[in-house]
Amino acid sequence: MNTDRLCIHTITTKPWPFEKAMDAFAKAGVKGVSVWPEAAQGLGFKATGELIRSHKMEVVSYCRGGFFPALEVNKRRMSIDDNLRLLDEAAELGAPLLVLVCGAAPGQSLESSRTQIQAGIEAIIPRAEANGVKLAIEPLHPMYADTRSAINTLRQANEMAEAIKSSWVGIAVDTYHLWWDPELEYQIQRCGENNHLFAFHICDWRLPTEDMLNDRGLMGEGAIDVPQIRKWVETTGYDGFIEVEIFSHRYWKMDQQVFLNQIVKAYKKHS
Ligand code: ZN
Repeated sequence: MNTDRLCIHTITTKPWPFEKAMDAFAKAGVKGVSVWPEAAQGLGFKATGELIRSHKMEVVSYCRGGFFPALEVNKRRMSIDDNLRLLDEAAELGAPLLVLVCGAAPGQSLESSRTQIQAGIEAIIPRAEANGVKLAIEPLHPMYADTRSAINTLRQANEMAEAIKSSWVGIAVDTYHLWWDPELEYQIQRCGENNHLFAFHICDWRLPTEDMLNDRGLMGEGAIDVPQIRKWVETTGYDGFIEVEIFSHRYWKMDQQVFLNQIVKAYKKHS
C-alpha cells in the first residue's frame, strides 16, 4: 500500500517543532496533515497552512471545536463564540473541516447535553458556510461521557447529523472510539448513504490501556481490526484521507523519527 492517503495529526508527533515535523512528514510520503492549535502557535494560522501546502501536503482538518454543553447559559454562549473563532482559524489555515469534540456537562443529563450540542452546532452553521469550513461530529468512546462528549455512538452522531440536515455537518469516524460497537458496520453504511462520512481517524486500543487519554496504540498492536473498519468505511465510497491520530506518553518519549517510521510501516501493514 502506498501513502497517498496517509494523513497524520500534528499532535501525534507532539514533541517535534512544527517545521521539523512537516519536513519529516513530507520525506516519509505523508500527504495530509490535520492541525492541532499548538502546531500553529509559532507561525500563526495562515503561514502554518501555507507551510503545509509548500511541502505538497494538504491541510485535512483543524482539531478541535465543540464543548458546547454547560449548565449556565452564558457559558454556552461563550462556547459558541469560541467555535466561531475556531472556524475563522480553520479558514485561515485553509482547512476544509473543523472536527467537533462535542462536550458534556456533569450536573445535567447526557440527553440535556445532547440537546445543547445540537443547538450549538446549529448556531455556528452560518459561519461554517460563510468560511467554507465543514463541521464533523466525532462520537467519543463512552469512557469520555462524563466531560468530553455526550455523543458516544455512531448511531447518536448519525441521528444528530440527520436531524440537523445541513450539507455543512457530518461525522468523523474514529476506530479508537467506535471499534467495540456491535452496530458499527451498519452505522458506517448509514453514515455514508447520507453523505455524512467526512473523516476517518485510526489508531489501536492497547492491551492493557494504562491511561484513558494518552495511551493509544499504533495500528496492529492492540484489539482493533483497523483493516476491517477501513473496509466498511470504503464500501460507502469514502476515498478521503486515512488519518493517524495517536496521543501517547509512551510514543512521545521516543525518538520521533523512529516513531514516524513505525507509523508509516504500521499504516502500510495494518490499515
Ligand atoms: Zn479522532
